[in-house]
Amino acid sequence: MSAGPVLKPEATIGILGGGQLGRMLALAAARLGFRCHAYSPEADSCAFDVMQHSTCAPYDDHAALARFADAVDVITYEFENIPAETAAFLAARKPVVPDPSVLAMTQDRFVEKKFVEDLGIATAPFASIESAADLAAAASAIGLPAVLKTRRLGYDGKGQKMIGPKDDPAAAWSALHNVSCILEGFVAFEREISVVAARSRDGQVECFDVAENEHRNHILKVSRVPAPISGDLAVEARRITERIATAFDYVGVLAVEMFVVGQGSGPAVLVNEIAPRVHNSGHWSIDGCSVSQFEQHIRAVAGWALGKPVRHGNAEMTNLIGPEVNGYADWLGQPGVSVHLYGKTDPRPGRKMGHVTRVTPGGDKP
Ligand code: AMP
Repeated sequence: MSAGPVLKPEATIGILGGGQLGRMLALAAARLGFRCHAYSPEADSCAFDVMQHSTCAPYDDHAALARFADAVDVITYEFENIPAETAAFLAARKPVVPDPSVLAMTQDRFVEKKFVEDLGIATAPFASIESAADLAAAASAIGLPAVLKTRRLGYDGKGQKMIGPKDDPAAAWSALHNVSCILEGFVAFEREISVVAARSRDGQVECFDVAENEHRNHILKVSRVPAPISGDLAVEARRITERIATAFDYVGVLAVEMFVVGQGSGPAVLVNEIAPRVHNSGHWSIDGCSVSQFEQHIRAVAGWALGKPVRHGNAEMTNLIGPEVNGYADWLGQPGVSVHLYGKTDPRPGRKMGHVTRVTPGGDKP
């Protein structure tokens, strides 16, 4: 089904997934006069709190999916591991944006990396691992250290094993239950950056300024915007993101995570991963920019023109992870700080419970 008609403000946007990204999408949609309806299998989904309508049902419940499709004008997602079959079932009934074919590609690390490589964009060296022989050949061709990653369902460092020069690759694969993997060369990066970009139905692309991302225990902890990189590198990172979005014929917001490597003769940035959705490294844009990533996504999905993002200053976003959320009061009185709490009840270690953004007016040019 095509992207459908341009939506009027009172239309209803269906969102697959019930996490904080869906919650912040609905808040942005409400500002533009839209209604939202979330679909999630989990009863305690924090997105449900701010929706006009919600459906709590499994992703393979065809009756519930059909009712959801009937109740909305367009369907999007805040979670990329929606089963392909669910997306296909819905796409036969209502426009699903971005197109489910993008989900299928980005759900598989090998297909995604091959797609990027085929565009002539640099990545770490990688190889598909389906057998012990594949693993032995890849370890010797790519060299160790290397990172073994499951092709599917990895996030926040889950489904990943570092293999050091003295480690046995077979043991690492066995720890990942010998599922289909990729082996990736270890990148001794200078820093990690990401570009969050929106693309409209008619191909307009608007990139936010490049973020520098700091991870702790494989989970994003801090994003700083603009990233402290040269103007040329920032242009290159944005150009790569625009090429990927255009090659996907993408509609909506996506994020491209990259490694900045040393100033040798090779490429200065390597693409690590594509997220076909709004992204944690773009949360700063709610408070730090004229238009947020969430609003850009809603505009694109509705067939509206995108905003031209203008940053209010330098922004630093810090995630409140697990019990850190209990210290939210410490942030309330700090100058330039906005506090966002996701309404999740159980602050399990590693769980994203909220974030804070500090905006310093003025600031560096991108
Ligand atoms: P990913 O799930 O691929 O985004 O990886 C999570 C994090 O692991 C990244 O943000 C990096 O900090 C680290 N990482 C992933 N792949 C590599 C690599 N090939 N070399 C070095 N670090 C990596």
